[in-house]
Amino acid sequence: MPKNRHAANRFKKSQTLFARAVGLMPGGVSSPVRSFQSVGLSPVFIYSGEGAYLVDVDSNRYIDYVMSYGPLIHGHAHPAIQAALAKQSDRGTSFGCCCEEEVTLATMIAAAMPHVPMVRFVNSGAEAVMSAIRLARGITGRPMIAKIAGGYHGAVDALLVEAGSGATTHGHPSSPGIPEAVTADTLVLPFNEPLEVRHAFQQHGERIAALVLELVMGNIGVVPPAAGYLQELRELCDRHGVLLVADEVMTGFRVARGGAQERLNVRPDITCLGKIIGGGLPVGAFGGRREFMNHISPAGPVYQAGTLSGNPLAMAAGIAALRLLETAEPYQRLESLGQRLQSGLEEVARKAGVALVVQRCGGMITPFFPPAAKGAGAFSVRNYADALRCDTRAFALFFKAMLESGVMIPPSQFEAWFLSLAHTPADIDATIDKAAAALAAVAAARG
Ligand SMILES: *Cc1c(COP(=O)(O)O)cnc(C)c1O
Repeated sequence: MPKNRHAANRFKKSQTLFARAVGLMPGGVSSPVRSFQSVGLSPVFIYSGEGAYLVDVDSNRYIDYVMSYGPLIHGHAHPAIQAALAKQSDRGTSFGCCCEEEVTLATMIAAAMPHVPMVRFVNSGAEAVMSAIRLARGITGRPMIAKIAGGYHGAVDALLVEAGSGATTHGHPSSPGIPEAVTADTLVLPFNEPLEVRHAFQQHGERIAALVLELVMGNIGVVPPAAGYLQELRELCDRHGVLLVADEVMTGFRVARGGAQERLNVRPDITCLGKIIGGGLPVGAFGGRREFMNHISPAGPVYQAGTLSGNPLAMAAGIAALRLLETAEPYQRLESLGQRLQSGLEEVARKAGVALVVQRCGGMITPFFPPAAKGAGAFSVRNYADALRCDTRAFALFFKAMLESGVMIPPSQFEAWFLSLAHTPADIDATIDKAAAALAAVAAARG
């Protein structure tokens, strides 16, 4: 790897590409968070990924905690997934007909998730949630949807109300281009406040088709549910005939093999999946018990379709990824790597005198910079309102220092970092050392 001697030039090729990209694609990107806009930088363009590492077009190397925002639980270019893709692509990439791989992947999902005996494959997480909502409305004949503030479910019209991820970072909680009528039937409730759900259901219960939520919030940074919260939601849904739609696009096969529903012991009616189940290719799925899923066309009247849905290439990558997740060992390893990173970050923050609150669920982790006036001890993020109070300026300084020292973290305070099974304890320790220096830079800038 050529060493960059001139700091000013170290992102030269990325900057040249970005200058071309902005004339060709809105903001120069295919998805907003990639623009690095919220941290005031221009984006890097990636040439290759290998295991836990990324290499950009200027040959800078990074330890990667973006991991494509979650799908790459085995790291970049895992040999078993690469081999499965090569083998399938020799036989063709899409047939517009049924293939055996769909049956195999559906079997593997059902084996890992007892509440998902039947699925429909789609091409993205957004498409999965959008279709799940249609299904819930179709089953119940009710118009309203309840969602959680800061919950992100893909760029789905009805759910782009107080949505997290890029929608939070870019300050467009509800986007232009979505008619009032489309979100008029969307109720927004705060996370970790069961009383608010109780009141909303008492008032509107008979009109609400579904409560859609991330069981562990991941798109405002990592926010786990309080003890008993999900169980209370389950009871309220049962009492009012509201379907519980668990968006496990991020958490499925991530926080446990059976997702957050296994880890936190809650039974959703409909589950949305994506990310890991595609092994790094575009995919999504939604599923639940057969009585519900048989409302979907052609078994039932709720229409849903897709030209490339269930294509054998994405299925083959997903099968290869899930085969490597069939024991408890990978999840124990992610837990222990996550624990190591969390306690390391907490320790170096303490030493640097920078307040930092690290929240984690398995291999998903977010260090939050509390509002300047608060110490770490007095602050935790329990919901969207808490997250929005964080010091995004401190985060931007931290991000820049990490990037320049060779660590790629998501370019926003409101995202989860993802560990992979390709990360080693040595990678974690190197990251903690670089974080110590980055936090010292934050402390110095604050004066
Ligand atoms: C990523 C994500 C989505 C959207 O998935 P896409 O494949 O980007 O459409 C939906 N819900 C959650 C919880 C996610 O993290």
